[in-house]
Amino acid sequence: MKTIELTREMQKYSDSSRSKGKKIAFVPTMGYFHEGHIELMRQAKKMADCVVVSIYVNPTQFGPKEDLSRYPRDFDRDSERAKEVGVDVIFYPSNKEMYPEGYQTYVNVEDVTKNLCGLSRPGHFCGVTTVCAKLFNIVKPHIAVFGKKDYQQYVTIKRMVADLNMDLEIIGLPTVREADGLAMSSRNVYLKENERPSALTLIDSLRLAQKLYDQGERKASTIISQVEKFISQSPYTDIDYVKICDPETMRDIEKIRDSALIALAVKVAQTRLIDNHAFGELI
Ligand code: AMP
Repeated sequence: MKTIELTREMQKYSDSSRSKGKKIAFVPTMGYFHEGHIELMRQAKKMADCVVVSIYVNPTQFGPKEDLSRYPRDFDRDSERAKEVGVDVIFYPSNKEMYPEGYQTYVNVEDVTKNLCGLSRPGHFCGVTTVCAKLFNIVKPHIAVFGKKDYQQYVTIKRMVADLNMDLEIIGLPTVREADGLAMSSRNVYLKENERPSALTLIDSLRLAQKLYDQGERKASTIISQVEKFISQSPYTDIDYVKICDPETMRDIEKIRDSALIALAVKVAQTRLIDNHAFGELI
C-alpha cells in the first residue's frame, strides 16, 4: 500500500491506473477508522481493481464552534487497518496542499442542503461538496463510496455529481452499527461510559418510529413528537432536530405516503450524534 501526500502525484497515479484499464474506487474519509469505514473499503474492493482512501480532516466543513481541533486522529492505526483490507493507496494531503494561499473557490448545492444538518451547521455542506469536488478531481475515481449514515451528505454529493456532470458513480452503503445498535462514528470516542445509554436513545427512538409506522401511523408530526418525548426522557440529551423528510429532496413531509426518511441529530453531553432510518426497511 502506498501513501501519497501530493495532489500531483495522486493524479499521476490515477492517470497511470486508468491508462492500464483499471477501475478506481474511492472512499473519502476523515480517518480514525471504525468498522463503518472498513466496510466501505471492503465493498469498494469488490467493485474495482484499485481502491484509494483519503484521510483528510477538512477544516472548511467545521463551524467555528465545532470540534475541528479535537477531532480524533491516528494515522498509523488507520494505515494498518487499510492495509489489512487491501487498500492500494491512502491519499493523505495537508491543509496547505488542499487549500493553498489564495484559495477562493467553493461548490454550493442549494436545496437539498437547506434542511436537517444544513439548518444547524451553516456552511457545513459547502465545505463537504467543495472538498469532495476537489478530491474527485485529484483521485479521478470511476466510483466513490459513501455511507448512508450521513444520508443528507450522500444525497448532496449525488446531486453535485449529476448537476456538474462529474464522470463518476456515487454508491451509498448501509449504516454499520455497534452490537447495541449505536451507529458507528469516529465521534463515539467522545462519549463517556455514563453517557452511552443516552446515545442509544437515537437507535431506540428510530425503532420506536418504525413500530408506530408498523401500527399504521402515517402522520409525521405524531411520530416526531413521540420520538422527541422518548429522547428527552434520557439524561444528557439535547435534541437538535427530529425530522421526517423526502429521501430525495430532503424536504419535510407531513404525511408518509411512499418512501420517507426519519433523520435525527442529538447532542449527548458534548457529543453531537446523527442517525436516520428509512421507513419500511429493517434496522
Ligand atoms: P467520516 O470519516 O466520518 O467523514 O466518514 C467517511 C465515510 O464513512 C462517509 O461516507 C460516512 O458516511 C461513512 N460512514 C461513517 N460512519 C459510518 C457507519 N457507521 N456506517 C457506514 N458508513 C459510515
